[in-house]
Amino acid sequence: MQRSYLVYALGVITLTLAVTTTYLTWQHLTQRSHIDMLLKERNFFLLENASSSNTLVVERAQASSTITDLAYRLSITEEELRETERDLDREQNRNEEFEDQLDDLAGTIGVLDKLSKTDKELLQKYSKVYFLNENYIPQRLTKIDDSYVLPGRKEQYFHASAWKFLKEMLDDAADDAIDLKVVSAYRSFDEQNELKGQYTQQYGTGANAFSADQGFSEHQLGTTLDLTTPAVGGPYTSFAATPAYTWLQENAHKYGFILSYPENNSFYVYEPWHWRFVGEDLARDLHAADVHFYDWEQRKIDEYLVSIFD
Ligand SMILES: [Zn+2]
Repeated sequence: MQRSYLVYALGVITLTLAVTTTYLTWQHLTQRSHIDMLLKERNFFLLENASSSNTLVVERAQASSTITDLAYRLSITEEELRETERDLDREQNRNEEFEDQLDDLAGTIGVLDKLSKTDKELLQKYSKVYFLNENYIPQRLTKIDDSYVLPGRKEQYFHASAWKFLKEMLDDAADDAIDLKVVSAYRSFDEQNELKGQYTQQYGTGANAFSADQGFSEHQLGTTLDLTTPAVGGPYTSFAATPAYTWLQENAHKYGFILSYPENNSFYVYEPWHWRFVGEDLARDLHAADVHFYDWEQRKIDEYLVSIFD
């Protein structure tokens, strides 16, 4: 009986072991398979990761190449822009030059136009070989107000464009208590001839000394006049001793007037009363150089013609 129990017990133990072994084997297989699965997943993940990282590298390389390309194109564009700016500058400079040339041309045309309208005789030196044409008449004359004319004299006329300079000079002289009066201003050729005839009758050939043609030609211009003071009266050499004459010597150039025939000149007899309008610029420059009108070259004097009434 005891032996059969033992056999039974052994049988139970053996069965139990077999079952346990089978279970463990199954469990082992299951876990193995799970590990394999996990390993597969890991590998897959690693692969995936590696691939996406590769993509990034490629993309980064592409981006870098694109940036390099863009930078290159930008530098070209900048260079083109600089060139365009240089072209624009050149074009602007050319335009400015052209405008300057136009301005110069307009200026030249303006000067030429002004010159063409300015009477060349107004600054002409008259000599024994150069006379003013007997038919010459000034462009426009204006009547000198009687208050400026020596009492007892007839109506006097002066060049219309030069009148304002004469009026200012006479007014300023009056302000300085200098009583300047006009004895004779514009004279036509006929009047001159008549006057010369009178002088010739009175003084014979000696009349040529102070009424020679060139002296009176200046009166025919309309810009020349004889001045005196009521105390002196007519156009006499004694005018040179008056304060009025001194005032004229010091101030007449400021108004554009010059003394045509100063003392000891080599052209004509001394005429302290005989003043000619030549424009402020020329009168001022002659005065500054201490030179007389008739001592300067005609070519040099002519340069002042364009601004004679400025
Ligand atoms: Zn005179």
